[in-house]
Amino acid sequence: MSLCIKSLIKNMNLVIGCTIGCNYCYARNNCKRFHMTDDFSVPQYMNRKLHLMDNPKSHVWLLTGMSDFSDWETAWKEEIFERIAMNPQHAYIFLTKRPERIDFQTDDENVWMGVTVTRASEKKRLKELKAHIRSKHYHATFEPLFEDVGEIDLEGYEWIVIGTETGKRKGKVDANPEWVLHIVEQAKRNHIPVFMKEDLLPIMGEDRMIQELPEQFIEKIWKRK
Ligand code: SF4
Repeated sequence: MSLCIKSLIKNMNLVIGCTIGCNYCYARNNCKRFHMTDDFSVPQYMNRKLHLMDNPKSHVWLLTGMSDFSDWETAWKEEIFERIAMNPQHAYIFLTKRPERIDFQTDDENVWMGVTVTRASEKKRLKELKAHIRSKHYHATFEPLFEDVGEIDLEGYEWIVIGTETGKRKGKVDANPEWVLHIVEQAKRNHIPVFMKEDLLPIMGEDRMIQELPEQFIEKIWKRK
C-alpha cells in the first residue's frame, strides 16, 4: 500500500496561472476544465483564499500547485508571507523551475522552498535555488522524471520527492526504476528523507517504495491540535 501525497499535503492555490508552459502541465488542463481563469498563461492572485491559513488545525500546504513561485509578484508575496507569519501552525511548501529569476528571503521556520528537476540539464537549479532564495528549509522534486539525472549535489536539502509523469499525453515518459534508485541512493547517502509519489508504485513495486516525510511535516500532519 502506498500513501497518496494529496492525503498528506493540501493545495492552497493562491496563485493560478504560469508563464512557463510545460507540455505535461496538468494544472493548465484543470484550469481549463474547471474554468478557473480565462488564460492559464497569465498568473492571477486569488487573495480571497488567504483565510484558509487561519484554520487552527495544522496542515502542510503546497502553495504552488497551480503556479510557479518565479511568477509571483512582490505585492502578492508580501501579503502571503505576512499571513504565513501569523499562522505558524502550518508548514508551507513552494516550488519553482526558475530559481535564477528570484531574489527572496524568508526566516520562517515553517517555510520550505523547493525546486523541480526533471532531467540532468536542469540539476543546476539545485544550486541556484539556494543562491537566489535564502530559506530555513530546502526540498527538491524530481517529477516528472524524464531521465537519469546523474550525480546531484543535495547539500542543504531536507526532503526529496520523486514522481513519474501522469496523464495521457502523447509521448508520455514513464520513469525507469534505475533513474529513481539513483536519486534515492544519493539522498540516503546524505540522510535525506525520500517520498516516492503513489504513481511510482507500479514501476517500483511495493518492496522498493519509500514514502518518508521530514519530521516537521509528520508533526503537522499527525499531531494536529
Ligand atoms: S511550471 Fe508547473 S504550473 Fe507551470 S506550466 Fe510547468 S507544470 Fe504547469
